[in-house]
Amino acid sequence: MKIEEVKHTTKSQRIAAHSHVKGLGLDENGFALQMASGLVGQEQAREAAGIVLEMIRSKKMSGRAVLLAGPPGTGKTAIALALAQELGSKVPFCPMVGSEVYSTEIKKTEVLMENFRRAIGLRIKETKEVYEGEVTELTPAEIENSFGGYGKTISHVIIGLKTAKGSKQLKLDPTIYDGLQKEKVEVGDVIYIEANSGAVKRQGRSDIYATEFDLEAEEYVPLPKGDVHKKKEVVQDVTLHDLDVANAKPQGGQDVISMLGQFMKPKKTEITDKLRQEINKIVNKYIDQGIAELVPGVLFIDEVHMLDIECFTYLHRALESTIAPIVIFATNRGKCSIRGTEDLVAPHGIPLDLLDRLMIVRTMPYSKEEIQQIISLRAQTENIQIEEEALAKMSEIGVKTTLRYVTQLLTPASILAKTNGKEKISKEEVDETHSLFFDAKSSAKILAEQKDKYMK
Ligand code: ATP
Repeated sequence: MKIEEVKHTTKSQRIAAHSHVKGLGLDENGFALQMASGLVGQEQAREAAGIVLEMIRSKKMSGRAVLLAGPPGTGKTAIALALAQELGSKVPFCPMVGSEVYSTEIKKTEVLMENFRRAIGLRIKETKEVYEGEVTELTPAEIENSFGGYGKTISHVIIGLKTAKGSKQLKLDPTIYDGLQKEKVEVGDVIYIEANSGAVKRQGRSDIYATEFDLEAEEYVPLPKGDVHKKKEVVQDVTLHDLDVANAKPQGGQDVISMLGQFMKPKKTEITDKLRQEINKIVNKYIDQGIAELVPGVLFIDEVHMLDIECFTYLHRALESTIAPIVIFATNRGKCSIRGTEDLVAPHGIPLDLLDRLMIVRTMPYSKEEIQQIISLRAQTENIQIEEEALAKMSEIGVKTTLRYVTQLLTPASILAKTNGKEKISKEEVDETHSLFFDAKSSAKILAEQKDKYMK
């Protein structure tokens, strides 16, 4: 099993806007603190989310889901993410929008299934044989890539590896070989080269365990088995979708090493039901053997009224499955018709039998002070400095437009401030950016007023 070659497929861009959110910010009695863990206000919804959290922890959520109902920009996504964070730092959070299911190429239920699998994590614990070495030097230079299909490697480290015969200086790519997936490696760090690495498999030799670039010999040298002097527990977090993708796509020609490599045909490019079933089988086997553990995450479906009856039927069934993630729906609609029906009207456009299973939580518009606190939090996270007066002006604009609009003004305003030779955003830049960009409401108003001038 080669989980480290499974690429993560998280939808990071969509979550980036909420990077300041770290949790629900509740006290030990479950009451919301006005501002904590990156969340501001919206106390009732946060406390309700806290109760849902308790239900999840005591395994009382199966078959149920949550609906966050409230106007746009009232923190529905932020609260759903916070709930996922409370479940643990490596718990998957998969956001999607209802309208995503309407694609010309992929079936609606297929899109839902994919997102379900993005929201289910798998924690794999393996004991691996590793070489241990200490980082002695970091080299930003690119070396010729002899690692086969791994693509270009831009940064390498030099490690001093203690071997049976003495010590060797080796050059290697830390992200691949430390087996711990460190994001940052520094001189002095102890890192691990996985003994049974891909290079060996290609050479098809059983007497050696890995091949590494030897600095003195200036060539790739096999590392003998005898040099392995550590067993290390390696923990990896992936999602079921990561596994699907890794096993469906051949990555870099010959070097396709995947969990299922042994018995799935190479050159598969599609994730089929059959493939998913195979993956499930293996996953179940690993769970039974105690190697892996399922980590149900959070699937967040915004604009749930965009889903149609077929999707709802599918979701209803999927919620009952033994390995379902926590599903959090969000909507800003009241009564509306259920798509795909002959104008059947239902609250939030959700069929009543599904609605029955939902715990509904309302979110309310923010006050000017709360908007100010949120902008300030975003500014800190994005490392943007802003003057008091400018901050006040922004929150004023936020009340009239939307929270999303003002938080999105921060970056252009800071660019403008730099162009104007200032370190901090002042009121002037806020006014200027506000006059340059339109918020959704005024844009819609202008379109309505001048509709004759636009093509239909
Ligand atoms: P919704 O899903 O209801 O539309 P959202 O969570 O997507 O709301 P945005 O409109 O995108 O919120 O809000 C803009 C920014 O404000 C985002 O960075 C979001 O994380 C942040 N935000 C929203 N609500 C809160 C809150 N209660 N506390 C802190 N930050 C918040």
